[in-house]
Amino acid sequence: MSTIAQNLQAVDHTIVAAAKACGRARDDILLLAVSKTFPPEAVLEAMAGGQRAFGENYLQEALDKQQAVHAAAPDVQVEWHFIGPIQSNKTRPISENFAWAHTVDRLKIAQRLSEQRPAGMGPLNICLQVNISGEASKSGISAAELPELARAVALLPNLRLRGLMAIPEPEADPARQRAPFARLREMLEQLRDAGLAVDTLSMGMSADMAAAIAEGATIVRVGSAIFGSRTYE
Ligand SMILES: *Cc1c(COP(=O)(O)O)cnc(C)c1O
Repeated sequence: MSTIAQNLQAVDHTIVAAAKACGRARDDILLLAVSKTFPPEAVLEAMAGGQRAFGENYLQEALDKQQAVHAAAPDVQVEWHFIGPIQSNKTRPISENFAWAHTVDRLKIAQRLSEQRPAGMGPLNICLQVNISGEASKSGISAAELPELARAVALLPNLRLRGLMAIPEPEADPARQRAPFARLREMLEQLRDAGLAVDTLSMGMSADMAAAIAEGATIVRVGSAIFGSRTYE
């Protein structure tokens, strides 16, 4: 078995244990393998280990990788998620080549993604990125502005608003990792109370996936624990 396939098993065990510890079903949590900076061969190894959902941050790298993976394994259905910052001039290829975008934080970006989603592909699944740690990050909408953005995005015809995504500041102490994830869960619950049909919390990475699962993560985005450490971001 390849190292990547072994790592996938280890990550799966972490997810199983974290889900069990809080009485959740393993199948309610999607493992998104974050393959940024790694070559198509790494994705193919993960696919051989059973992995089907992959997250990418850099558009051109992602498009090249998608082509190479599809050429090598044309019969395997892979689900691609865009998880990097989205500039206006990147919306068309994102809407044409991904099943999900996790990092929408402006209405203008959402409108473009909706307008540019090809007919017949079905709606693009959207998570709104929330700036959960305040000033530390420049990406993400503030908690105060979230409800209005969510209402507007939910009305766009070719998008399906699924939920929220956040990248908290790194916190090494597991006991303190849960607080920002709990805040994101509460924000999702408020959107639900306001009548939006949202079901997704995209939160948790290699170092904090167990804490995120304890607070309700439905997608964990895991890179280095599967593919090894990155030599660049
Ligand atoms: C790189 C990245 C990840 C994966 O991080 P690891 O610490 O390698 O698991 C998850 N989410 C986003 C948005 C990323 O950019």
